[in-house]
Amino acid sequence: MGHHLHFETQAIRTQLEQTQQKEHSNPLFLTSSFTFETAEEGAALFQGQAGNLYSRFSNPNTTELAKKLTLLEGAEDGIVTASGMAAVSTSFLALLNPGDHVISSKSIFGNSKYILDTILPKMNISVTYVSPHDNLSWESAVTQKTAMLFIETPSNPTLSTLDMTFLGSLCKANDIIFSVDNCFATPYLQQPIKFGADLVIHSATKYIDGQGRVLGGGIVGHTDLVAKCYEYIRRTGAALSPFNAWVLSKSLETLAVRMDRHCANAATLANFLQDHSEIEHTYYPHLESNPLYEVAITQMSQGGGLVGCQIKGGKERAAKFLNALSMHTLTANLGDTRSIATHPASTTHSKLSEADQLSAEITPGFLRFSVGLEHIEDIIRDIDQAILMSKP
Ligand SMILES: *Cc1c(COP(=O)(O)O)cnc(C)c1O
Repeated sequence: MGHHLHFETQAIRTQLEQTQQKEHSNPLFLTSSFTFETAEEGAALFQGQAGNLYSRFSNPNTTELAKKLTLLEGAEDGIVTASGMAAVSTSFLALLNPGDHVISSKSIFGNSKYILDTILPKMNISVTYVSPHDNLSWESAVTQKTAMLFIETPSNPTLSTLDMTFLGSLCKANDIIFSVDNCFATPYLQQPIKFGADLVIHSATKYIDGQGRVLGGGIVGHTDLVAKCYEYIRRTGAALSPFNAWVLSKSLETLAVRMDRHCANAATLANFLQDHSEIEHTYYPHLESNPLYEVAITQMSQGGGLVGCQIKGGKERAAKFLNALSMHTLTANLGDTRSIATHPASTTHSKLSEADQLSAEITPGFLRFSVGLEHIEDIIRDIDQAILMSKP
């Protein structure tokens, strides 16, 4: 199976060799360890000979998922991890050294910020946050000690677009590892390696599963960087369960068709909200009101499945709105078949100080929609009636 196969075909046809049962669908290998034919084979496997030994090191199901994710991102190599946060933390802890400096964006996932602010300083690793759209500040944040630049685009939760071509060349010129959390776009919409990323991080829990069932994560990129991350996971234990890998590999088979519908529904909702008199501002990468619209349409083939908006009336109105929804689920997850509404200021990003929330553009009236696969008319009707019901 080579590079010339299309995305959908790779997502469906990348699979393990059949066993003697000649199964069509991939089997699940629930085994913690693998046996050796001889004493010599056991010794050779422990010396690094290719083969499965123990499921913290590798398992056919996790190997299959890692291979598929690597191909879909156009990367050299990849591994999978127990969750998205295992992938994020591993990328820092396996690749950074005491004294190093990291540059990140003011708009990133709350738990990633927690690691940068609370865990890395214990190792004397410092961080500078930059406003996503301020290209001059990215350049001036670089120091002799900068070892990694870590971003999300689109970012969580305000869906900011960051210019990967610009940041990729800044990193290349300064010998900095450029790492992109590609959770919101998925490789179907955007492949950061094409824009200069050295490492791509995933929470597979979101669109890759797509049905809100299992946790998982992944790291793909340059062989030498992935090898260090693999060694770290193998020793420290945040290995993905074979069952979750089996679910996620099946899920990737339908990623393209799911994302097409998520994006079509989200774009329709974004246009609806943009024109609504009770909505102050709508955030969606492929709306022309996005300050980096030109970059967004170059980087992403479609605008993604998430839409943000600022409802008039602030925090109180936002709470009333959520309570008035009848179909949307109130939960912190995203990327599910079911449409989800979230109030980041009081949930996912509530640990940030008010000042940090505002500098990440998370205003009290900000709402995030993970637009699902229900019929778009039902999605919009639910949101429209809740806007009306919550009117003071
Ligand atoms: C959810 C999320 C993560 C963390 O993933 P888990 O699988 O929940 O550990 C990391 N980055 C982004 C952008 C996310 O949305």
